[in-house]
Amino acid sequence: VFAETPRAPRDPILGLTEQFVADPRTEKVNLGVGVYQDANGKVPILDCVRTVDAQLAAGGKPYGYLPIDGLPAYDAAVKELVFGAADHDRIAVVQSLGGTGALKVAADFLKQTTPDATVLISAPSWENHRAIFARAGLTVAEYPYYDAEHRRVDVDSMINTLRAAAPGSVVVLHACCHNPTGYDLTADDWQRVVDAVAERGLVPLLDMAYQGFAQSLTEDGAAVRRFVDAGLVTLVTTSFSKTFSLYGERIGALGVVCADADEAGRVLSQLKIIVRTTYSNPPTHGAAIVASVLTDPALRTQWESELAGMRDRIKQMRSALVDGLAAAGVTGQDHITRQNGMFSYSGLSKDQMITLRDDHAVYGLDSGRLCVAAINPGNLDRVISAIAAVAG
Ligand code: PMP
Repeated sequence: VFAETPRAPRDPILGLTEQFVADPRTEKVNLGVGVYQDANGKVPILDCVRTVDAQLAAGGKPYGYLPIDGLPAYDAAVKELVFGAADHDRIAVVQSLGGTGALKVAADFLKQTTPDATVLISAPSWENHRAIFARAGLTVAEYPYYDAEHRRVDVDSMINTLRAAAPGSVVVLHACCHNPTGYDLTADDWQRVVDAVAERGLVPLLDMAYQGFAQSLTEDGAAVRRFVDAGLVTLVTTSFSKTFSLYGERIGALGVVCADADEAGRVLSQLKIIVRTTYSNPPTHGAAIVASVLTDPALRTQWESELAGMRDRIKQMRSALVDGLAAAGVTGQDHITRQNGMFSYSGLSKDQMITLRDDHAVYGLDSGRLCVAAINPGNLDRVISAIAAVAG
């Protein structure tokens, strides 16, 4: 029956990793990945996570099934972290398999409730946005976002497109740390987006995979609260993959802010059916870790400081990269320090990225995206001299 099944194209980022692994050059650097690494080039295990892991192991709890919508203490903690003081009764939350799982449940729910809606994603966006919403059967289109010439967000074009969108269209927004460009909206820009979404009757979906990686938990979550405070029905997908360094635990959440508690109850009942028929119920371990850390004051303080440590290290590497490039004669790279999060649209062309890879063993994406969270004091000089060689 599968004789005619065509071979699907390889995932471009995973394909790049395979090429990196096979590269025999010892001085190679992989800046193609989407994973934070510490100053030693390792994926960190946060101390707060180690502590809870040890407690959980000592407690010897059996691995029973969680409720369909996840660990109750986890869902409550997510509401507090993501939505703050908003009325929690009108928010439906389900624990999800990372941010991707939250997007998948959201996409299926939107297809069920608004099957003809167009989903607008930023140009460019995380590649999986288009794929997830298209696979759910929704039409995907783009709004302008990145202005390559001026190395900034083209917010005027973005707003114009939102104002011309069909009412009921879903707008996928990156709450902070835009992937892939690193360019975020300013507070004033956000207000313009909220106004356009409200006036046009659009449905906002905020994807927040990096809360705390730009400025702080509160500042990075401000965009979410802006939509909620404006009284808009809003979907939020969140993830602890990066902020807790729990990538493989697949821990995230979907929150839907509804008109009132009754609507939230009905929405939750539908989300639970989607979960039940997709993977039945979510995994236990990541939820137990995150819930314990978020609700224990000492562990919470420790996490916030470890999160700040990751954020500050990225910022240091951005500055060191700009300074190092300037010293090597490549000036005008200040956009790198204006960006947020793990990624930087370097401004390098596809040809330059290929030369960077082929001649210098520094791997980034053809789009020019570099993972600055994978730069460390041990590979910084190599990255600088390689970029200087291709850009100089
Ligand atoms: N949204 C965006 C914008 C992302 O960058 C990512 C991670 N690369 C995700 C969602 C998904 O994260 P997770 O690994 O938790 O599924």
